[in-house]
Amino acid sequence: MAERATPDLAISARWILPVEPAGATLEEHAVLVRGGRIEAIVPADRLPPMDPERIVSRPQHVLLPGLVNAHTHAAMSLLRATTPGPALDAWLRERVWPLEARLVSPDFVADGTELAIAEMLLGGITCFADMYFHPEVAARVARSSGVRAVIGVPIFEQATRWTSGLDDSLGRCLELHDRYRSDALVGTSFALHSSSLTTDATLAHVRTLADQLQCPVMIHLLEAASERPRVLRNHGRGPLERLEAAGLLNDLLVAVHCVHASAAEIERIAHGGASVVHCPASNLRLGNGIAPVSTMREAGVNVALGTDGAASNDSLDILAEARLAALLACGSTGNGHALSAHEALGMATLAGARSLGLADVTGSLLPGKWADIACMALHGPAIEPVTDVAEAVIHAAGRAAVSDVWIAGRCVVRDRRLVHIDTVDLMDRCRHQGARVVAALAANAGQ
Ligand SMILES: [Zn+2]
Repeated sequence: MAERATPDLAISARWILPVEPAGATLEEHAVLVRGGRIEAIVPADRLPPMDPERIVSRPQHVLLPGLVNAHTHAAMSLLRATTPGPALDAWLRERVWPLEARLVSPDFVADGTELAIAEMLLGGITCFADMYFHPEVAARVARSSGVRAVIGVPIFEQATRWTSGLDDSLGRCLELHDRYRSDALVGTSFALHSSSLTTDATLAHVRTLADQLQCPVMIHLLEAASERPRVLRNHGRGPLERLEAAGLLNDLLVAVHCVHASAAEIERIAHGGASVVHCPASNLRLGNGIAPVSTMREAGVNVALGTDGAASNDSLDILAEARLAALLACGSTGNGHALSAHEALGMATLAGARSLGLADVTGSLLPGKWADIACMALHGPAIEPVTDVAEAVIHAAGRAAVSDVWIAGRCVVRDRRLVHIDTVDLMDRCRHQGARVVAALAANAGQ
């Protein structure tokens, strides 16, 4: 038998939650990493001979797959806690879009995206799906931060501060896709704001391109109760019917929210193989309601988790979303077992990876996948005693317990500190941007 090459890294921990196989918990095991990928998971007392400096021991900790934030608008972290509401449409038209018209620039997107990435890495998130202006800037910042990202290129039919119209948007999407086609960490997708703002011709055009490139198509769908009647009135068909008619209801579709999806619509989403991204905190914060997650899961829909942008959340914390998803599922169905901790963790990891076409790459600790790993310290008065590791991770620990993070085997958070991001410089830039936000809010209020 050929001798195995020595691993580059071994991370041993008290527990491992690999997510695949579903529901598994390992005790006193180690993840072996070579060339950035998971080589094997072995009992901690059976490590191959290797340099002790390459062994990381975490004796009171759990290793889990890096978390996946399947929907956000990263640069909107600079608009955190700027008061949403009273309803989605009014919030967007009266608050967000006027603010963005004053503020959005390449620098704003660079600083806001880096702020979001810093927050996400510290919270154990190793992969995120973005949707915002200047995606070429977000892609560059993601790449230099060493995080895994799917950068959604917004497809606008009208001229914006970023593009001159549909052809320009599509052209930039193709250009960005080409630039990152072979990148190990950064990929691209089409990002449609919503069906109400997109014509049938554009939906069909995006479908053709997405099929050719095998790129995800992200869209906000059935987020507010007002969406279906408005789309019916303006387009003669409901939002889901329009996607179906355009051929978009397939496994490349990432339908964000679906708070107001009916049981029949959920069946069609499941049949089409599309994923749904559940963003419970944003849905509550904007008064949109509670998505029927249990019905979706029972129908076989792949339901991932997203934070949405910080302007409607106000933190990019997938562990908090997982806990909230579990609480809402139990509370809204009257069944305390409606969403178990293992299931919530699966939504926060593998389901997110699957929604982005990355299930072969990340989302679970399986040999062959990239070593995207979060480590949490499960000790202290708020967490112990640990009697069920998954329950402790989802319901007791929270992101403050995240101690270390690796992406493709590279350490990006060590002992709760960012390894490659200069936090002092970043926060200086973000405070400067914060002053611009305050001025823009005052200017909008004075209009
Ligand atoms: Zn969103």
